[in-house]
Amino acid sequence: MSKRDYYEVLGVSREADKSEIKKAYRKLALKYHPDKNKEEGAEETFKEVSEAYSVLSDDQKRARYDQMGHAGVDGNFGGAGGMGDFDFDINDALRTFMSGFGDLGDLFGGAAGGRGRRGGKPAGRDIQITLKLSLEEIANGADKKLKVKIQVPCGSCGGSGGKAGSRPTACSVCNGAGRVRQVSRSFFGMVENIATCRNCNGEGTVISDPCTTCGGQGVERGETSIKVHIPSGVHAGNFMRLRGQGNHGPRGGPQGDLILVFEEQEHEYFERHEDDVLYFLKVSMPQAVLGAELTVPVLGGEARVTVPAGTQSGSLLRLKGKGIRNNRSGRAGDQLIRVMVYTPTHVCGETRKLFEKLGKQDDTLPESGEKGFFQKLKNHLFN
Ligand SMILES: [Zn+2]
Ligand SMILES: [Zn+2]
Repeated sequence: MSKRDYYEVLGVSREADKSEIKKAYRKLALKYHPDKNKEEGAEETFKEVSEAYSVLSDDQKRARYDQMGHAGVDGNFGGAGGMGDFDFDINDALRTFMSGFGDLGDLFGGAAGGRGRRGGKPAGRDIQITLKLSLEEIANGADKKLKVKIQVPCGSCGGSGGKAGSRPTACSVCNGAGRVRQVSRSFFGMVENIATCRNCNGEGTVISDPCTTCGGQGVERGETSIKVHIPSGVHAGNFMRLRGQGNHGPRGGPQGDLILVFEEQEHEYFERHEDDVLYFLKVSMPQAVLGAELTVPVLGGEARVTVPAGTQSGSLLRLKGKGIRNNRSGRAGDQLIRVMVYTPTHVCGETRKLFEKLGKQDDTLPESGEKGFFQKLKNHLFN
C-alpha cells in the first residue's frame, strides 16, 4: 500500500510555513475527528492527517521527509540504519488536536514574522544547484560532499554589518520595534494597521557606521561544504531541499535553503527504464546457435550471463536485482539484456567456405509456417 504525499494529505504546498501547516491540519482534524465525523473512513483520514502533521510540523522530520520521502521517516527503509522510527500514536494526535485551540498566540504570532525571519532580520536567499549523478550513484544511493558558493557572514564585521567597534543603533522611526502603526481615516471611521517600518526594513536597528567590506550587508561571498545522502532511485528533475543550508541572511539573518536538482549522466552502456537498466549484448552466430557463457558489465561491476543455445536475435535475458534500487519499495530493479546476433559483414577464405557449406544445410533454414515468430520478435524488440 503506498502512502499519500504528506503535503498532499494536508493540502499545502511544499513551501508552506509552520502556521499554514498548522492551520490546514486543524481544519482537517476538525472535519474528520472520529468524535464528530461518523462517516466511514473518517477515522482513517484523521489518522492520515495527524501522521502527516506530526512529520511536517517537526523541522527534523520534515527535512528528512523532503529529502527521502516516506522512506526518510518510516523507519522501514531497507538498509538505511539510524533513520529513526516513525511512531504514530492516536492519543498523541488527539492531544495535539485538543490543545490546538488554546494557543492562539501561536496562530497569529507565527504569521507576523513569516518563515525566514528571525529577530526581524531577513533570511538569506535560497540557492538552487544542479547535481549530476551517474547511474551507479543512482542505483544504490550515494553520499556526496559538495562545495557550494554561498553568502557567508562577513569576516570583517562578523556579520553585524557595522564597522568594528560600532553598534547598530535603534531605528528612530519605529523606536526599535520594526513595525509602525498607521492610522488612516476611511469610510468606516478610523482604521489602524501595523506596517513594517521602511526606515529599518523591519529590523528595528540601523547601521550608522557600515562595514567597508560588505557595505553594511553583513555577508560576503564564500563557500560551504555540505555532506548529503542522495537516496537511490532518483530521477532527473527530482530535487531535494536542504533547509537552512543556503545563503546566510543579511546582518545575522537566518540561512535560506539549498535546493539540489538532480540530473542523470548518460551511461556508457546502459539505458535506464525506471528501475531497470537495459544493455545490448552482441553475440556471434555460433554463440547464438551453440550457447555461450559471457561476461557483461553491470552497474558497479561485472556479471556472468548464460546465453542459451538457440537464442534468437532480439531475445531478452534478465539479471535479477542488478538494476536500480527504488527508494520507496526498497527493491532493486533488473538488468535487462537484449541479445543481438551479429551478422559478419565481410567473410572470406575458410569462413566463407564454411558459410557456403552451412547454407546448403536444411537445418539452418528458418522454421517455416511459423507466422507468430516475427510477431514475437517484433514485440521483443519494440517493448
Ligand atoms: Zn562586513
Ligand atoms: Zn524602524
